[in-house]
Amino acid sequence: MAIEAPGLDPMRVLMAVPTQRDVDVTAQLLRKAGVCAVPLERDGDAISRQLHSGVGAVLLADDSLDDRQLEALLAGLAGQPPWSDVPVVLLTRDRERSPCAARLAAMLTNLTSLDLPVSTASMASAVLAALRARRRQYEIRDQLIAQQRAEQALRDADRRKDEFLATLAHELRNPLAPIRTGLQALGRLPPGEDAQATRLRQMMERQLQLLVKLIDELLDVSRISNGNVRLERERVDMRSVVEAALESSGPMLDAAGHELHVDLPDVPVWVLGDPTRLAQVVGNLLTNAAKYTSFGGSIRVVLRADGADAVVRVSDNGAGIPPEMLDQVFDLFVQVDHTRERAQGGLGIGLSLVRKMMTLHGGSVTAESPGLGRGSTFTVRLPTLGIGSADSSTDIEPRAGGRGLRRLRMLVVDDNVDAADTLVMLLEACGHEMRAAYSGTAALQLARQFRPDVVLCDIGLPRIDGYTVASRLRDDPHFASTLLVAVSGWGTEDVKRRSRNAGFDFHLVKPVDLESVNRILERL
Ligand code: ADP
Repeated sequence: MAIEAPGLDPMRVLMAVPTQRDVDVTAQLLRKAGVCAVPLERDGDAISRQLHSGVGAVLLADDSLDDRQLEALLAGLAGQPPWSDVPVVLLTRDRERSPCAARLAAMLTNLTSLDLPVSTASMASAVLAALRARRRQYEIRDQLIAQQRAEQALRDADRRKDEFLATLAHELRNPLAPIRTGLQALGRLPPGEDAQATRLRQMMERQLQLLVKLIDELLDVSRISNGNVRLERERVDMRSVVEAALESSGPMLDAAGHELHVDLPDVPVWVLGDPTRLAQVVGNLLTNAAKYTSFGGSIRVVLRADGADAVVRVSDNGAGIPPEMLDQVFDLFVQVDHTRERAQGGLGIGLSLVRKMMTLHGGSVTAESPGLGRGSTFTVRLPTLGIGSADSSTDIEPRAGGRGLRRLRMLVVDDNVDAADTLVMLLEACGHEMRAAYSGTAALQLARQFRPDVVLCDIGLPRIDGYTVASRLRDDPHFASTLLVAVSGWGTEDVKRRSRNAGFDFHLVKPVDLESVNRILERL
């Protein structure tokens, strides 16, 4: 049962004394002590209303109420909530023989009787003591209210967690089903069905990308809530950010049969930002546009310099968002419709990450929509460094043209044999000379014979871990120019710092994709 909200004036004293003169004298006396005393009403309903509008104490002379009034007062006091026990101060001529005193003593647990005649000082001090006790009751009530609120908040959080886990299990399983079926189908394909195999592989890659995105988002949420996200800012052209986002969400846009309109200015729009995070922001908006638009929709991305801001707008003609949800969709786990059948799943995390990333960049993101079924536009804004000047005097990496990588000798180290072997197969298919080692010790031995140009090394290895492998290789002058790349399931700043200190040149987070390996190899 909810505890009542605070009364209007919990320190008010209701008094019932025989004559109007007694009323005036007592009220004046108590006013001097800072207490507001008002006459007790005379009929049942009015008394009950008075008791419910906040009462500190009742001051009563035993011959001032008739039986009906006395019973009305007792009924009102009997209806108090469990935390409340209004103190009653009774002024009585004969506490043994007065029927009123006897009745009150039988019914009340918080009664103070003063024998008449009583000095004004004693009466005032009895009323003040009653009010102090009453104040403690109110404090207890406030604590109970706070406790009830905290319990309700816990119950709500628990319910949201259950809902979230159910959605998580569902969303993780969704992409797994087609991957498993795809693998089984690949195994049964008759030789020569290359086109079919390519289609299956592309489908599995898309689904895998979804899985990786879900897990990345989960990790990002926990990093952001622990304050562990650090932006690696550099001077970056927003056109390349949009292009990178289009590259990563392209397969999904294609698969959903959407028509894509891209409108980029001819001149660079420079901002100071973390290119990976900014591409993640735009990529999230594009993926959402693709998800919440039925097959064959139209999606538009526009980049403009607007005054001192770089502005990216992603619009679609899909599901739309009701006006009351336009701001809420940026809150964690908020989804407009949990039940709606969606082309691709989600956890209600993406937009909250988008907003947090934009805030970290000193920018903003907003949503507009004419209503359900009428499409949406998401607008990202962040301050520009300048427009048009091709001068990139700061440290922007020139984009390596083409993929004409030379054949490299590479060593893959991972105690997960499947993970090591598949990476070896993939890089062999790209023309590199590959070896695998399944432990730190084996890696050090093999490295001495094989002299790799690049070592891709897992961190969590038994006995000799990846950090030790890296620092031993760095101590050996033969490996002075070898590129050491850490490959780990962990990507926190802390782990990245440790791998830098151990001697790694780069840190990749699992699962590693060919694109990120190639970007690193291009630097060789
Ligand atoms: P998710 O897509 O994983 O549910 P997000 O945080 O990315 O989570 O989005 C939150 C919610 O906002 C979505 O569930 C969806 O209801 C709504 N939403 C996001 N983008 C769009 C869009 N382009 N059109 C319609 N609704 C959208």
